[in-house]
Formats: sequence, C-alpha cells, structure tokens
Amino acid sequence: PTVLNSGEPDARRRARPHVVFVPSAGMGHLLPFFRFIGALSAHDVDISVVTVLPTVSAAEADHFARLFHDFPSIRRVDFNLLPLDASEFPGADPFLLRWEALRRSMHLLVPAIAGVAPRATAVVTDITLVSHVNPIAKDLRLQCHVLFISSATMMSLCSYFPIYLDNKDAQADVGDVDVPGVRHLKRSWLPQPLLDLDMLFTKQFIENGREVVKTDGVLINTFDALEPVALAALRDGTVVRGFPPVFAVGPYSSLASEKKAADADQSSALDWLDQQPARSVVYVAFGNRCTVSNDQLREIAAGLEASGCRFLWILKTTVVDRDEAAAGGVRDVLGDGFMERVKGRGMVTKEWVDQEAVLGHPAVGLFLSHSGWNSVTEAAAAGVPLLAWPRGGDHRVAATVVASSGVGVWMEQWSWDGEEWLVSGEEIGGKVKEMMADDAVRERAAKVGEEAAKAVAEGGTSHTSMLEFVAKLKAA
Ligand code: UDP
Ligand code: UDP
Repeated sequence: PTVLNSGEPDARRRARPHVVFVPSAGMGHLLPFFRFIGALSAHDVDISVVTVLPTVSAAEADHFARLFHDFPSIRRVDFNLLPLDASEFPGADPFLLRWEALRRSMHLLVPAIAGVAPRATAVVTDITLVSHVNPIAKDLRLQCHVLFISSATMMSLCSYFPIYLDNKDAQADVGDVDVPGVRHLKRSWLPQPLLDLDMLFTKQFIENGREVVKTDGVLINTFDALEPVALAALRDGTVVRGFPPVFAVGPYSSLASEKKAADADQSSALDWLDQQPARSVVYVAFGNRCTVSNDQLREIAAGLEASGCRFLWILKTTVVDRDEAAAGGVRDVLGDGFMERVKGRGMVTKEWVDQEAVLGHPAVGLFLSHSGWNSVTEAAAAGVPLLAWPRGGDHRVAATVVASSGVGVWMEQWSWDGEEWLVSGEEIGGKVKEMMADDAVRERAAKVGEEAAKAVAEGGTSHTSMLEFVAKLKAA
C-alpha cells in the first residue's frame, strides 16, 4: 500500500513534459525562441534552455540574461563549443560561423540533455541545427520539434529544395523553384547563397531541409489567415509527403523583459513618438544588423527628406552590434547637413528599440522594412502597413507573404544586397509619400491586424494550435 501512495506524485511528475530548447544564434533566431518560451511557460511544462556564452552580439547576451532573470523557473543548461577555425571559411558571416560551430559541437550535448532533471521528454531546436539535433533526440528517445523562425512559405522552400535538387539535371544551375501547392519562387527571390551549392550556408540548408521532414513537429510564427495556402500544402503533404504536424502559433508577443531591455535606450524614441500626430510617422528599420550599403543609406536619407514625412529611423551600420561604437555616430554616416535639415521631423538612432512598442504606437503610419520575418509578423500583429524592401536571405520570400496577405506592398524591382544598382532617393521618397496617403493599404493592414488578434485569442487558430502542441508534448 505504501508503494501505491508514494507512486502517485511520481506518476504526476512523469506526466509533466520537460522541454529542452536548443536555440541557434542571431537576434532574428533568438527573439522568436524567447517569445515562444515565454508563451509556453504559461502551460504546465518544465523548460530548460541550452545557452552558449559568450554570444556573438551584445543584444543576444542581454536578452538571455533577461530571460533567465524574469523566468526563474526556466533552467539554464550551459554549453561550451568546440573551437572553430574561422580561416576555413574566409569572409563568412560571424553568425553563420556560430551556427557551424554549434553544429560541429552538438554531439557533446548528449550527456547534458540526458542528464537534465526531471528527465527530458522533448527537444525544440532551430532549423539551422536540426540535422544534428534530430538524430540525437531520436537516440535519446525524445520528441524533436523545430521552432522555425521564418514563414510557412519559407518552410515549404526549405523542405522542398532538396527534392528540387534531386530532380534537377545535375549540370543545370539552380533556377526558379516551383514549390508544389505553394507558389512559384523566382530564382532571384531565393536566399542568394542557394544559387551556389558549394556555399557553407547552402550545405547546411540542404541537410536541414532533408532532416526537418523527419522531426515530430514544426512550430511556425505565422497564423492560418496570413499564410493559408502554404500552411495547407505543408499539412496535407503536397510540399513533401509525410511532413510532420505543423503548429502555426503566431504572431508571438514580445516579452515584458524585452521592454525592460530596451527601456533605457528607447525612451527617447517612444517619447518622441508621443509628440507626433496620429499616423504621421514612417518607421524605418532594416533588422537588427546592417543590411544596407552606405551609398544606399544616403539615398534612403534623401528619400525620407524628400517625402516631407516625419520619420523614426533605426539605423544599424555594423553586422555585430559590439562594433557599433567604433563605427561612429549617426552624423558620421548621414552627414551633419541631413540631421540639421530634418531636425524636429526626423529621429535617427542606432540604439536597440522595442520595435513591438514602436509599431503599436498610434503615431506610426507606415513601416519601411527589409521584411525580415519577425518584422513582418510584428507589423501584421500591429495592423501597420509595411513597405517591403528585401535586403537578402529569406526577405524576398517573406515579401511574397507581405503582398499576398495584405500586410503591405513589396517593391519587387528594388535591388537587394549583391545587385549593384541603387534605388534613388527620389523613388523611395515618392513611394513612401504615396503609401502614407493610401487609405486602402491602411485598411488592408488593419484587417490583417484583426485576423492576428483573432488567431491568438481563445479559440483562435493559433491558440488552438498551441494547445495541440502542448497535448503532443504530454503524449510523450
Ligand atoms: N529588433 C528590435 N529592436 C531593434 C532591432 C531589432 O526589437 O532595435 C527586433 C525586431 O522587432 C525583430 C528582430 O529584432 O523582432 C529582427 O528580426 P527580423 O526577422 O525582422 O530581422 P533580422 O534582424 O533577423 O534580419
Ligand atoms: N535557413 C534554413 N536552413 C538553414 C539555415 C537557414 O531554412 O540551414 C533559413 C532561415 O530560417 C531563414 C533563411 O534561411 O529563413 C535565411 O537565413 P538567415 O537567418 O541567414 O536570414 P537573414 O537573417 O539573413 O534574413
């Protein structure tokens, strides 16, 4: 009888899932992890997060620290990487190098995951690591899910691309990719490295694309009304037969801790917005790191000046934020004359702002964006029209969603990184002015905002998907 009694709490403990998150690097990858982790922590689950210190950027370190401070029940699993000889990959992006270092060290994670208490039941990892993490999880008999940091449309490309390559004439160049049931993706919209099968990024992309299909589930920061076609095609196996369950659980909300992280720096930007009339400000931001050449930055400046509109511009001039101080101030990049001429109606800052708060501010009427996926979902949630000017990577694929969903407008002809020509200030200014005056654009974006709110509300598609994910964890 005593055995029966003492067995009860144990059985209960076993029923509570323990999810070990294995995130990658780069704020565009970490923020959606932190936001999802925050949302999951409201459910009856234990959570551990594998943490590699030092991080590549200061913003990553800052946000990790806040996460663990604000969620004391979340366990930190420290992990040391094998050294990576960067000279193997001359000129490679520091975040891509970190992904590679993580990939090469993942086998060392086995004892750490096997040793967490209570016993782990599932691993949730990033697409960049999945070809190494999924086999480990399978060996340990754990569920393995991918928390995908881009769109469902991008997931369809990621999982179909290896099949496209298998079917392609081996001698032929990579061309347009017709993703079954989703859409035709032009060659020029693909992340630039995919055109070269020897690039490190491409090798990782192909391995991860093959493996994601073998996982137990894929979480995506999207919602049914935003990407109905891509989600349906992934779910019914049209993209890749036997694709795992897809949980469309977005748009995520930023954490209270993010607001605090930005507090010190952003107050001036938000204070400034408080003084501007409703919907009068163009918010300009191209992601958490530099994606625009200095010559193109000066054309953007000229365009904003010529538009006559008020603007708030988050300017990043380096790839890693730790280098920003040495890169000089805003005036060094844009010139004193510009700052004087736009005084009062334009604000430019290099600081980290709480973008969600900015997009939710009533003074903001338009978002000129590189259409990084987090930015797209934040604009969708806020119902703010987005003028998409992709710069690289998955941005053009994301911009197809901007256009198809009604969140905004995609300037398909505007050049991106690697295309030599500049978009003129005159053209930028003209488009900004036109969109600021376009009521139809504004109404379409507001409608998407309503759909986003419905999706995450009780009974909405994303809310339901989240409950299904938690149920799946409990079935382990
Ligand atoms: N972000 C922010 N403040 C900044 C710069 C960036 O809050 O000063 C956030 C932004 O809201 C988004 C993320 O960083 O959530 C950037 O991700 P995105 O996918 O838009 O672009 P990436 O930076 O990955 O190219
Ligand atoms: N990606 C992928 N598999 C990989 C590496 C990257 O599917 O092995 C995706 C990634 O999720 C993103 C896109 O490829 O949607 C471009 O990656 P990156 O994070 O470099 O995008 P950026 O921040 O440059 O937009």
